Amino acid sequence: MTRDELINELIGGGYLKTPALVDAFRSVDRRQFVAEGHKSEAYENSPLPIGFDQTISQPLTVAFMLEAIQVQPGDKVLDIGAGSGWQSTLLAYLVGETGKVIGVERIPELCKFAENNIANYPDLAKRVAIITGDAGLGYPAEAPYDRIIAAAAAEAVPVDWQNQLKIGGTLVAPIGQSIVVMHKVTQDKFETSTFMGFSFVPLIRE
Ligand code: SAH
Repeated sequence: MTRDELINELIGGGYLKTPALVDAFRSVDRRQFVAEGHKSEAYENSPLPIGFDQTISQPLTVAFMLEAIQVQPGDKVLDIGAGSGWQSTLLAYLVGETGKVIGVERIPELCKFAENNIANYPDLAKRVAIITGDAGLGYPAEAPYDRIIAAAAAEAVPVDWQNQLKIGGTLVAPIGQSIVVMHKVTQDKFETSTFMGFSFVPLIRE
C-alpha cells in the first residue's frame, strides 16, 4: 500500500474521522518510524517489529485510540510506551505549539530510536520529551495530565494513572485485548467505555 492508500483505508473504514487527526496522519510519515528492513511495509495496516520484542502499533489501533482520546491544542499528554515515537509525534502535532507530550519508554535503546525518529520533525520535537523508565506508576514528575494514553496492555488501569489525570481529562489504555476509555468527571468518578477486539504487547512491570 501507499501512504495515501493507508490513510484512505482508515478514513473509509470509519477509523479516522476528526480533521485534525487526519492532518496529523498526513503530516507525520510512519515510514520515518519503522525500523530498517521494514521500510517497504511502512504503509501496511499491521504492527511491525522495532526490536527488543516490541512493535510499532497497527495504524488502525493508533487511529482508534487517538479518535477516542480527542486531544486538544494546549494539552499536556502522557504517552506510555513510546516505542518508535510515532504516536508521540502524532500527539505533538495535535497538542499544537502550546502543548506538551511526555513519552515514557522502559527500553533505553528504543528511547534513542524514538528520539532519532522524532528529530525528523524539528518543530514537533520541541514539544516532546522522551523519558526512560517504567510508567507502570505513571510519571508523577509532570502530572497532572489532560490526556493519558498507553500502548502496552495492563491487567487493569493503574490507579496512579487515574490519579495523574486532570478532572475533565481522558485516559485511553489497552486492558487485555480491549481498549478502555475513561473520562474523569470528578476526583473519584469516571465514565468508562470498553471496546473489544484489539491486540497489544504487554505492559512490563519492573
Ligand atoms: N506507541 C508505540 C508503541 C510501542 S509498543 C509506537 O507506535 O511505536 C509498546 C511499548 O511499551 C514498547 O516499546 C514497550 O517497551 C513499552 N513498555 C512496556 N511496558 C512499559 C512500562 N511499564 N513503562 C514504559 N514503557 C513500557
